[in-house]
Amino acid sequence: MPVFFIGHGNPMNGIIENDYTRGWKKAIEKTPKPSAIIVVSAHWETRGTQITAMKTPRTIYDFYGFPPELFAARYDVPGNPKLAKEVAETLKDEVISLDEKWGLDHGSWTILKHLYPDADVPVLQLSLDYGKSAKEHYQLAKELKFLRERGVLIIGSGNMVHNLRMVNFQSSKVYDWAASANNKFKKLILSGEHDKLIKYESLGNDAALAVPSAEHYLPLLYVLALVDENETVEIFNDAIDLASISMTSVKIS
Ligand code: ZN
Repeated sequence: MPVFFIGHGNPMNGIIENDYTRGWKKAIEKTPKPSAIIVVSAHWETRGTQITAMKTPRTIYDFYGFPPELFAARYDVPGNPKLAKEVAETLKDEVISLDEKWGLDHGSWTILKHLYPDADVPVLQLSLDYGKSAKEHYQLAKELKFLRERGVLIIGSGNMVHNLRMVNFQSSKVYDWAASANNKFKKLILSGEHDKLIKYESLGNDAALAVPSAEHYLPLLYVLALVDENETVEIFNDAIDLASISMTSVKIS
């Protein structure tokens, strides 16, 4: 099963169609229908790692100041408590707790509404433990490899360049540092230099502005950790939105 890092960007992408949402759909076109989907979303940070284990995850509106249509959107999809339990039991070196309270935050539902509009594939979310280093996230992700052979689709949902403080809704002019960090990350992704991406804090000032906090960047490391030898790594939706948010996405197959 392929693995995707998807730049989710503006929550409004959940209810509109644009080049980004069309790019997501196109990228997933030839992917066989998964048995389940596990999303590592930038929008779920917890103490310790958790996995959603409820039968029916709710749609979470974890944003403010958007039009009522966005709050009326839903993504009613089943969960898969059995798979959640299995992941928790299989990852022997990691403590993964089963969560009954979260659901689907906008990091997952706004993209899945486009990718699987029929909502007929069970969805789980895996949280980001804010106590872990980038290296530790990468190592944890490696242990999820068995799921790929089981037909489970793993998606990391974030934005590799994500500086909300510098977002510009009025101008599409991209900051130089945003473009330069995006190019730097892309090169390292394509050349498989994961160590440098893990140590993103040593990648210079542009990278520091691109990743002012780790949560939108870390899902990328989960995806890269799952690359097998001889697999193809492709970039799609390579653009910067709102001046400081990169929509650049990655497909591994
Ligand atoms: Zn986000």
